[in-house]
Amino acid sequence: MALIVQKFGGTSVGSIERIGQVADKVQRFREAGHEVVVVVSAMSGETNRLIELARQVMPQPDPRELDAILSTGEQVTIGLLSMALLQRGVPAVSFTGSQVRILTDSAHTKARILEIDEARLRAELAAGRVVVVAGFQGVDAQGNITTLGRGGSDTTGVALAAALKADECQIYTDVDGVYTTDPRVVPRARRLERITFEEMLEMASLGSKVLQIRSVEFAGKYNVPLRVLHSFKEGPGTLITLDDQESAMEQPIISGIAFNRDEAKLTIRGVPDMPGVAFRLLGPISAANIEVDMIVQNVSHDRTTDFTFTVHRNEYDKALAVLTQTAADLGAGEVLGDTQIAKVSIVGVGMRSHAGVASRMFEALARENINIQMISTSEIKVSVVIEEKYLELAVRVLHSAFELDAPIRMDE
Ligand code: ADP
Ligand code: ASP
Ligand code: MG
Repeated sequence: MALIVQKFGGTSVGSIERIGQVADKVQRFREAGHEVVVVVSAMSGETNRLIELARQVMPQPDPRELDAILSTGEQVTIGLLSMALLQRGVPAVSFTGSQVRILTDSAHTKARILEIDEARLRAELAAGRVVVVAGFQGVDAQGNITTLGRGGSDTTGVALAAALKADECQIYTDVDGVYTTDPRVVPRARRLERITFEEMLEMASLGSKVLQIRSVEFAGKYNVPLRVLHSFKEGPGTLITLDDQESAMEQPIISGIAFNRDEAKLTIRGVPDMPGVAFRLLGPISAANIEVDMIVQNVSHDRTTDFTFTVHRNEYDKALAVLTQTAADLGAGEVLGDTQIAKVSIVGVGMRSHAGVASRMFEALARENINIQMISTSEIKVSVVIEEKYLELAVRVLHSAFELDAPIRMDE
């Protein structure tokens, strides 16, 4: 007998029929003798619908009130799934985040979990019930409802598994595992048998939304056995593992390719090149609470330099205003902005032991005449910024260049 936490995403509970199928699945695990805690998302599209409703009333929604609205999506699903289980004769009980007491900080719409009181859950499990918990939500010390950021139900699942020391956390979704890249963009993407926490964290941070970043952080920190699986198709899925040296020998150089369209680029021209210039440019940006991702400073010719950096697209307007003011203060040249960019990243722990990975990437992009605007590297990833319209092409050619393509099936 094992204790299993099963998380079902939005499309997996997207209709009454699917909720029924999820209940059938949970029932099978129970009948096999396992204790089951289920975490569910809102029905697909519901969170977006609620955000839209809020915006109609208040274009920049008040964060506390927005959380009060958003948490209702998951509250509906826990009730429906519990009823579907009861209807099948399976004892079940639903809990909101606040009823469990998933204690978070007070950062509305992006709260972090601080503590989970697992006593009530244990008592319900001991009484033989399936416990159905609302994902994506918690409560702060003052009793305000909070939410954990988009995709946050993954984090609820992993955090509960950590708190309960579950034998496994299973993330059920609409793909049958973690792929070499988003299978919606590259049909020849391959399912990975396993991927390390470290690689998965990079993939998630660099744009692969199959798991929320914080869920991977949690799983790594508390060593939660984590598996991504298809909700309605049988299969082994993908196991997220610790870095084991033995299999590292046969590891491919690149495990996956991540991408995102969430960033925008800002350039300031003709900045006096002197000590402290980066601080004078980025100080006001960080004072405005804007996070900077990639940074490039050009070599100067005439004692002035160009300086380019990227921010989240949602913060582009704010960053542009701040930088324009800074340019005026410093007597610098023009400020340019570009929101039509995309970031493509190759990720793999195999990079540590192989040279020439970056140049292979650049060569593949050059062959397609794709211009690289910015580059950044770390031990296990190389990221480039390119024009957004080439994104899908870039991902496809890199997928081939690093020999990640699945073999073409004979029945295709
Ligand atoms: P859920 O609603 O179950 O949480 P998500 O939409 O959040 O599902 O995540 C699953 C989706 O993530 C897939 O449909 C897929 O398009 C996308 N995705 C992006 N990158 C990858 C990847 N490397 N492997 C698998 N899926 C990926
Ligand atoms: N319902 C939330 C969202 O759409 C949380 C989740 O699905 O994980 O982002
Ligand atoms: Mg998700």
